[in-house]
Amino acid sequence: MAGLYLHIPFCRRACHYCNFHFSTVLRWKPDLLQAMLRELELQRDYLGGEPLYSVYLGGGTPSLLETADLVALFERIEALFEVKPDAEITLEANPDDLTPTRLHEWRQYTPVNRLSIGIQSFFDEDLQWMNRAHDAQQALRCIPEAQAAGFEHLTIDLIYGLPEAPDERWAENVRLALSFGIPHLSCYSLTVEQGTALAHFVRKGKSRPVDEERAARQFEYLMDETSRHGYDHYEISNFALPGHYARHNSSYWFGRPYLGIGPSAHSFDGSSRQWNIANNALYIRAINEGHVPAERETLTLAQRYNEYVLTRLRTMWGCRTAYIAEVFGADFVEHFEQSIRRFVATGHVLDLDGQYQLTRAGKLLADAIAADLFWLE
Ligand code: SF4
Repeated sequence: MAGLYLHIPFCRRACHYCNFHFSTVLRWKPDLLQAMLRELELQRDYLGGEPLYSVYLGGGTPSLLETADLVALFERIEALFEVKPDAEITLEANPDDLTPTRLHEWRQYTPVNRLSIGIQSFFDEDLQWMNRAHDAQQALRCIPEAQAAGFEHLTIDLIYGLPEAPDERWAENVRLALSFGIPHLSCYSLTVEQGTALAHFVRKGKSRPVDEERAARQFEYLMDETSRHGYDHYEISNFALPGHYARHNSSYWFGRPYLGIGPSAHSFDGSSRQWNIANNALYIRAINEGHVPAERETLTLAQRYNEYVLTRLRTMWGCRTAYIAEVFGADFVEHFEQSIRRFVATGHVLDLDGQYQLTRAGKLLADAIAADLFWLE
């Protein structure tokens, strides 16, 4: 079971907090798409013939593509890979691109069966602060329109912990999200990433830094409300009604192979990972010359163990010592058990007979706890 990721590196506007690879220079779009079609051919053997059980178009903003562009991409994918009939096929979309006409076109002409909508907030104050291209009205309008077009498998992204957004506004964001009856939510704590406009504003004193206490309060509120509405908190940032866990993201957490196409896209074949150059012009040139501009790294046992701990501890399934013993060996089990003991004692981790899961208190410190469990080479 393998996944395919396509990175569409264009956006209408640069959101202040974003550190993904994207460009607002849209004139490269046709050349870039041609290069991605070609890269699909060049990489057709990367997954060793494994059938695709998830395809994910992310970015950037894939909803900037014309329907004809999407059709061309899917035709090429289906010609080169075996796509499972029940594959999860997700398209990331921004509210300002979603019109009833486009939504119906996607349903009619493409195999997309899941939309991931970048709502981030239902309030203009927050959206303007983030420099998003859409407004609150578009955010509120696009969800029922997507549902009316037949997209049952919907997920939306929201961001909490904004320094200017009081708890009441976050509560209203959560209430609105739940009121639409969508089966999946991805909610991220705002982080100030190096090199972003937001980092610059914070440095210059034009923006307040993230208030960690506020972010923690809002995260706890989110956990309570989603749980009250029957959502499983199946990964730190992800909440789903039973049966609606995102397959594509789960492949990253479960160490399954995936192929990434497009500038900056990452791939993993089970033992090594590679990442394409994060530069549109250089990517296009290299692909046109017939080679994939990627760096590759074979993971050591310790790196694989650290990735396992980092990704699995964030999920509701947690880490299992039986798995660590089988895949990484006795030394890693000893190291893991010794390191995790103190978090069990402080109530941050639950020990369910060799299966270690974060408690509610532990979820507030997930990455710090994982870092403490790392094997340092
Ligand atoms: S739309 Fe998404 S990828 Fe583009 S700048 Fe905003 S957050 Fe980043």
